[in-house]
Amino acid sequence: MTRKIIKQSVLFVALVTACAVLILYPGAGLALEGKDVLKVTFLNVHQGDAELIQTPDGKVILIDAGQSGNKYRPFDGGKDVVLPFLKKEGIKKIDMAVVTHPHDDHVGGMVSVLASNIKVDNILDSGLDYSSGGYGKYIKLIKEKKINFRIPKKGEVLDWGDRVTAQVIAPQVPLEKRMYRSPNNNSIVIRMDYGDVSFLFTGDCEQEEEREILNSGVRTKVNVLKVGHHGSETASSPPYYYHTDPEVVVICVGKRNKFDHPHWKTEKLFRETGVDIYRTDYNGDITITTDGKTYEIITGSEEEK
Ligand SMILES: [Zn+2]
Repeated sequence: MTRKIIKQSVLFVALVTACAVLILYPGAGLALEGKDVLKVTFLNVHQGDAELIQTPDGKVILIDAGQSGNKYRPFDGGKDVVLPFLKKEGIKKIDMAVVTHPHDDHVGGMVSVLASNIKVDNILDSGLDYSSGGYGKYIKLIKEKKINFRIPKKGEVLDWGDRVTAQVIAPQVPLEKRMYRSPNNNSIVIRMDYGDVSFLFTGDCEQEEEREILNSGVRTKVNVLKVGHHGSETASSPPYYYHTDPEVVVICVGKRNKFDHPHWKTEKLFRETGVDIYRTDYNGDITITTDGKTYEIITGSEEEK
């Protein structure tokens, strides 16, 4: 059963009423629609990440695409989740695909996406060379299809269309100086603002990169935080988490995964702050629509879990 929650952002309410009251209208069912709506869908790709952003002027951005499939583990985030979703939405072109880092649960499914009829205009990649089968196939397809491939510069502002501000806030260190670090802590981290509503897409960023973000002094306070590294104990350190100070956290995680993600300590931290917690293993696909003032969260059906 689909559940709908409509929220008014704290910032917007503060502007109107001068007090930070969070208004909740459970089950109101007033889906935000129209040309001014931005839509973010956290796709349920089991243990992995995939986020699709549809901007008001029609741009489509895909951040990660879940894992690849093989004969022992046939589920493929790209083939089984991302491509059917794009078809359902009538999407034939992706303006930008972002691969936060080269681990299979992020890049693996991108192979199916690139091999499909979907046209991908640009790829934003962390630049780390990684000798996994999935990553090699992904690079081969980029070359074959002559897709524009870029490694973002520190603080780069991305063209995601009018009224959408997207900025790469990590890594802060140039590629040649960060080769020695783990791929997780080289994740591309992007802050996106649409009016008063903001999101942080974090890939598998862990404490080392979180410190880098904090030390850079960049603005991290957001409404919606995509939790880093599937809610592991090595991510969401309290100083960083308190700075992001979200109203909603989204954990992209597989049911009964072998890593025990999310870690109970991380969940405890979230619960203590009273944030609204959404998880792809419990909620299925999680869609957030916003007109830049308010936002609404729609979760998937029981069947989609
Ligand atoms: Zn991951």
